[in-house]
Amino acid sequence: MRKHIVAGNWKMNNDLAMTESLITELKKQAQTSNAEVMIAPTFTNLWHAFEALRNSKIEVVAQNMHFAESGAYTGEVSADMLKSVGVQTVILGHSERRAYFNETDDMLAKKVDAALNNKIRVIFCFGEELADRKAGNHEAIVESQIKNGLFHLKANAFERIVLAYEPVWAIGTGETASPEQAQEMHAFIRKTLTNKYGKEVADSVSILYGGSVKPNNAKEIFSKPDVDGGLIGGAALKAEDFYAIVNAF
Ligand code: PEP
Repeated sequence: MRKHIVAGNWKMNNDLAMTESLITELKKQAQTSNAEVMIAPTFTNLWHAFEALRNSKIEVVAQNMHFAESGAYTGEVSADMLKSVGVQTVILGHSERRAYFNETDDMLAKKVDAALNNKIRVIFCFGEELADRKAGNHEAIVESQIKNGLFHLKANAFERIVLAYEPVWAIGTGETASPEQAQEMHAFIRKTLTNKYGKEVADSVSILYGGSVKPNNAKEIFSKPDVDGGLIGGAALKAEDFYAIVNAF
């Protein structure tokens, strides 16, 4: 049975005081679903968040990391540093990282390796831009992002991989892929995994959808058979909205 996961990507939002108060609000929410819940605060607040959530079911995850173990990479954060503050999962390949920080498939493949070598679970993000979808290239783009970032891995590495399909045109725009579009792409992703690694591996990997998931659309999106959860941006910044999504399963 695949895990249901709802992960909140806080992006570059929330200073220390705001992190504290949002965590206080999150702790007041009742969880009625079986989804694994994660939040991804900014680097500077990871340790504080980890401490504040030590006895809760909410996992604290990172939004990014560098592929090198250590060294002259000013401004970067390594897998080891993340582990030292309790982080066991990292988001890699978010479209904002790809677009604004020139993260390439090659770089992401190295980051994936670095995370896995350090026993850190990866939420690997990918997705097409609007022009790709309009041109009918969305499946080819997604397939190449997955192949280039992940297909050098052995099958057992997928025990530590979660996929997140995030059509770029739906992130932070209020536009959502319809539940049918999400299902169609998620089924395609699973087929791509099946072709390379076989059905057992493909069926075991959780595939999250991200892109303007809100309390009013989460239930329908999550009702699709190949959608195993959500990566949530804007709606993760309000405890009630986030838990309405968590509880949509
Ligand atoms: C995201 O940043 O991963 C995301 C899905 O954002 P939003 O929910 O705001 O579209």
